[in-house]
Amino acid sequence: VATLYIVPTPIGNLNDISARAIEVLGSVSWIAAEDTRHSSRLLQHLNISTKTLSLHDHNEDKRAAMLCERLKGGEAVALISDAGTPLISDPGFILVRRCREQGIPVCALPGPCAAITALSASGLPTDKFIFEGFLPVKSQARESAVSALLDRPYTSVFYEAPRRILDTVTLIQRVLGERHIVVAKELTKTFETYVSGSAQDVIDYLTSEAAHQKGEFVVMIGPAHISEQEIPFEAMSLLHTLCEHIP
Ligand code: SAM
Repeated sequence: VATLYIVPTPIGNLNDISARAIEVLGSVSWIAAEDTRHSSRLLQHLNISTKTLSLHDHNEDKRAAMLCERLKGGEAVALISDAGTPLISDPGFILVRRCREQGIPVCALPGPCAAITALSASGLPTDKFIFEGFLPVKSQARESAVSALLDRPYTSVFYEAPRRILDTVTLIQRVLGERHIVVAKELTKTFETYVSGSAQDVIDYLTSEAAHQKGEFVVMIGPAHISEQEIPFEAMSLLHTLCEHIP
């Protein structure tokens, strides 16, 4: 039996591919990719000529069965997605589940993931957090997903599409009031930006220039203040600004 490798790929900066990822991608019999055309650019850049086949939300069931047979026949497979870590808001769960059920070894390489990258530089508490993936699209479900954060005493991390980013931050402001929000945009790319502050601060940023609503976003919401002694983030940042101006 051969191994299924889960291989993270860059989320923007091509140099973030690991030496081990290159080695695995070059040595397996097959690369299963979310979009083979998209990934062919990366593989060409890396000079890798391994055969590819597609594995996406619409064919994963069939492909998983076929790949399990190949793995059992001794052909190693690497799974990649368009960007970042496969299975994290990306296809691959059915395949990994089947491999586990059938005793096929699964080996995950560590690597780029937008949620973890954003969280680690956000300045929000990282000791405990929840990753929510994408918010639901339908308005009632979106609202209840955001309401669920009201009393949550730890950081929440979301992915959001550019066409919904303003709507989402506005919803957060309406439902949660002025919680500490950090939006990370275009991570590892030329225009990487972190916007940190209240929902209103983020809305002001998003609406100040048309380009600010374009690109890829991770939205993070700080914990509800559980202790009365805890000084809210806004107060602390005001205090710091004041200190700078006081002689
Ligand atoms: N599997 C990927 C990962 O490990 O991060 C996530 C795939 S998901 C389909 C794509 C979403 O991830 C985007 O809509 C955005 O929210 C987030 N994302 C991906 N790349 C990003 C980047 N460079 N900067 C900010 N967010 C990013």
